Amino acid sequence: MLCHSCYAEPASMPDCAACRGTGRATSMPLCDEPWSEVAPGLFQGGHDVRSQSGTACVVDDEFDLVISLATRDGYGPAEGVEHVVLRLADAAIDPVTATRVAEVADRVAEAVGEGRRVLVRCSGGLNRSGLVVASALVKLGRTPDQAIDSVRAARGPWALTNPGFVVHLRGLVPPANA
Ligand SMILES: [Zn+2]
Repeated sequence: MLCHSCYAEPASMPDCAACRGTGRATSMPLCDEPWSEVAPGLFQGGHDVRSQSGTACVVDDEFDLVISLATRDGYGPAEGVEHVVLRLADAAIDPVTATRVAEVADRVAEAVGEGRRVLVRCSGGLNRSGLVVASALVKLGRTPDQAIDSVRAARGPWALTNPGFVVHLRGLVPPANA
């Protein structure tokens, strides 16, 4: 994964103290928050956080739509909450995966546009959920770099450190009518 400080950007990587100029990291810490609001009504989270409470990440009826990219028994959401499960690997993005991500990002963007509260969650709430949330933000009119920055601002510097996800997001084009 990418260094959380320089993100292997050519301009800052050679002088980066965090990764000693390698641009890479071998482990990432968990977030403190079960979920974070990235844009109004759009939340990103996971199943694992740095918390003493075993139920910190259990979703009840806080959201109108929950997208789960990883699932675990007993983690909700409550009965009656729209729940979409799309199992996604934290790996490189092939064309089939790209299509699936685009479809679920469409659904997220549409729901947020309708004023619904949406949670996109994976395991750590950093990469897979960040991929879908940032893709939805691009559909809502942000540039890829603005979308990536928003995800990192909300979830912390370790969000979107999967280099393949960053490359994929930078290739997205905001819709002309956004
Ligand atoms: Zn670095």
